[in-house]
Amino acid sequence: MKLTEKSAYIKGLMEGLDLDSDKKEIKLIKALVDLVDDLALTVTDLDEDVDQVFDELDAIDEDLTDLEDVVYENDEDEDEAFDEDEDMYEITCPSCGETVCVDEDTLMSDNLSCPACGEKFEIDLDGEEVEDAEKEE
Ligand SMILES: [Zn+2]
Repeated sequence: MKLTEKSAYIKGLMEGLDLDSDKKEIKLIKALVDLVDDLALTVTDLDEDVDQVFDELDAIDEDLTDLEDVVYENDEDEDEAFDEDEDMYEITCPSCGETVCVDEDTLMSDNLSCPACGEKFEIDLDGEEVEDAEKEE
């Protein structure tokens, strides 16, 4: 039986006794029964509120887990840059003319050097296409 059902049952029992409302003891009993009724309602409301808060907390927890997955997955990508199939860039060494494949990190680094001849060179990514276009002209 729920709390509210129990308090309703007690109220029913009291009313069944056909008590004399003018007596002081009866006034006390009625006041107590009213109090129990109020308490039962209040506790039931609180119980529902707490349930709702827990549900929302679960939802927030799930959202947080999703966010953590995204954040930590990105971290792993950076750590395993060489293991993951990362975008590779094919570049031609200006020194020996060898075509070499490098990943983005190597391409962006300041001391990029040719794996074939060891010569250091820089790649201007934005200028690359323009350079080709200029050669064709
Ligand atoms: Zn080279």
